[in-house]
Amino acid sequence: MDQQIFDIAIVGGGFSGTLVAAHLLGQSAGPLRLALFEAQPEQSGLGVAYSTVDRCHLLNVPAGNMSALPDWPDHFLDWAQRQTDLIDPPWVTAVDALAYLPRRAYGMYLRSLLDQAEQGAGPAIELARCIDEITAITHREGRVVLQTAAGSFVAARQVVLALGNFRPRDPAIDTPDFYQDSRYQGSPWSPQALADVAKTNACLLIGAGLTMADWALALSRSGYQGTIHVLSRRGLWPAAHRPYRPVAFDSRLRDEPSTVRRLLRLIRSGVDSEEGDWRAVIDGLRPHSQAIWSALPLVEKRRFLRHLRHYWDLHRHRVAPVVEGSLDQLLRSGRLLRHVGRLQSFAQSADGITVSYRPRGRTIPETIQVDAVVNCSGSESDYRKLDSPLVRSLLEQGLARPDPLHLGLDVAANGALLGTDGIPSQQLFTVGPPKKGMLWETTAVPEIRCQAAELAQTLLIS
Ligand SMILES: Cc1cc2nc3c(=O)[nH]c(=O)nc-3n(C[C@H](O)[C@H](O)[C@H](O)COP(=O)(O)OP(=O)(O)OC[C@H]3O[C@@H](n4cnc5c(N)ncnc54)[C@H](O)[C@@H]3O)c2cc1C
Repeated sequence: MDQQIFDIAIVGGGFSGTLVAAHLLGQSAGPLRLALFEAQPEQSGLGVAYSTVDRCHLLNVPAGNMSALPDWPDHFLDWAQRQTDLIDPPWVTAVDALAYLPRRAYGMYLRSLLDQAEQGAGPAIELARCIDEITAITHREGRVVLQTAAGSFVAARQVVLALGNFRPRDPAIDTPDFYQDSRYQGSPWSPQALADVAKTNACLLIGAGLTMADWALALSRSGYQGTIHVLSRRGLWPAAHRPYRPVAFDSRLRDEPSTVRRLLRLIRSGVDSEEGDWRAVIDGLRPHSQAIWSALPLVEKRRFLRHLRHYWDLHRHRVAPVVEGSLDQLLRSGRLLRHVGRLQSFAQSADGITVSYRPRGRTIPETIQVDAVVNCSGSESDYRKLDSPLVRSLLEQGLARPDPLHLGLDVAANGALLGTDGIPSQQLFTVGPPKKGMLWETTAVPEIRCQAAELAQTLLIS
């Protein structure tokens, strides 16, 4: 078999994979042969979050906290302030530490970071950027062999799985055949999806989180004249950032709360104190989130997921104030209608789609007429349910296993995958969202940038 051989192969060219690659290029004394695989050409060096081209899709973290480099806090802000085209009212009116800049701009920043790392790398250090999906991984003669969708094989000494965010799970309904209908958009981040839905007279967005906000704003900006229906189970709605006075938890957190009840008490005491609003409390807990999560027994973590997860997500992941304002305008104009209840079925006809749902607290179903349905219900993290051939290959061979809460993969502290035998792999590692079961707070830039730098070091010394 004719096979290319690399020292390290990274699977996934989003923020996590790109950043690990940049650190490896920057930190290695060489020689080093590195491959970076990305399945979707338009996501190469950008990933799901930063490949959008829509200027109303803003970062949900202020520019001052979006540096990709943990030791250089203003790195992104400095880069952004050198760009000449970021001011774009009403979305961006200033480029300062508190600004919520377009996600597309962040993607450009990431690409420039990798380009610079490649240009600055020593002569014996090579990066191969490959547009191909990895569909299977096997071990052979001390190496990892990666099979690609295009039918080739490459070998590597070590592999980083930077697989990131997967499309949402299709909600359980009485009529699952509907999910084959071309009017159903199951992948909300697919580049073609918006153009298809924008042609309709009415659409349904399932879920009322940040992806719903992205869709509602992008449809509105595209000149959509139809009605946007939003259906959510609990009636929660995105909260916005506001300035606040920070709450410092250091003195109160000598011991992490060991139950969800104690955690709630801690949050309530923070909110009741005169120090700030709930945003200050949630953000004040952020540096402690991983330690709090680790200290909770499994049964308490499950309790948190059952009762508090959606409320935590709502308060923790907030939109820029301008996004909140645009959503309010859509609501006030009657072009966006909110429904609260559980989805039951879809009935298709040539004229449209009848959506049936059971309103919260009621028994008699109601219906909505639409022409398209978009699943905005959030990334699937249960690896047993993913339709990724690579993930199936890893699980079937016992090279990886889901974490006990099914939030991602079971990993050691350094990101090494645990196989079914529970032994940390010397060759397979992961970074970012797949570590959610272990860390909980691991899906956003401030956490991933530290993991990426540390993982690069681990790989280079092993
Ligand atoms: C819409 C959205 C907006 C967000 N906004 C913010 C924000 O403003 N601030 C913030 O801090 N965080 C934000 N996040 C969180 C985000 O998860 C992280 O910031 C970060 O982008 C995660 O990067 P990643 O590389 O781990 O995952 P991804 O961006 O999902 O990248 C993973 C990549 O791996 C590729 N891939 C997967 N499997 C294979 C395979 N088998 N072979 C080859 N390639 C493969 C995928 O195609 C994808 O491009 C956002 C997330 C989303 C979904």
